[in-house]
Amino acid sequence: MTLHEYSYKRDFTKTPEPPGTVERGTGDPVFVVQEHHSRHRHFDFRLEHEGVLVSWAVPKGVPELPGNKHLAVRTEDHPLAYADFEGSIPEGEYGAGEVEIWDKGTFNLMNWEEDRIEVVLQGNRLSGRYILVRFKRAGENEWLLFKAKG
Ligand code: MN
Repeated sequence: MTLHEYSYKRDFTKTPEPPGTVERGTGDPVFVVQEHHSRHRHFDFRLEHEGVLVSWAVPKGVPELPGNKHLAVRTEDHPLAYADFEGSIPEGEYGAGEVEIWDKGTFNLMNWEEDRIEVVLQGNRLSGRYILVRFKRAGENEWLLFKAKG
């Protein structure tokens, strides 16, 4: 895992976001959902995996109940430190706008495959079994995110 794309897109003399450092996580893996008030308001869902936060932009947010499948577009991996990031990305910088943590917690990893990821989230707002599956018909980076029944 590298954070080259993350670092390439950002000027760390201008943005308050953390630098692109890969680090070994300690303890249970973390997840975070950030509400991002950029040009198109969306939510970012991130899961710790192999020293980075694997990330998706979820326009409609993470479903809180089973039944709805929400589009999740894979974006560049982020550093683990990003799970604590809240703040204002300045105008003119990549992702300009406010970032707020909507939920954060840990998860149990059930399955991590190229096309399918299954986790059990333990957050304040989100809990339970969530599944991400590649949605190849829609595009290379498109996934579907939904809460499993039971
Ligand atoms: Mn975003």
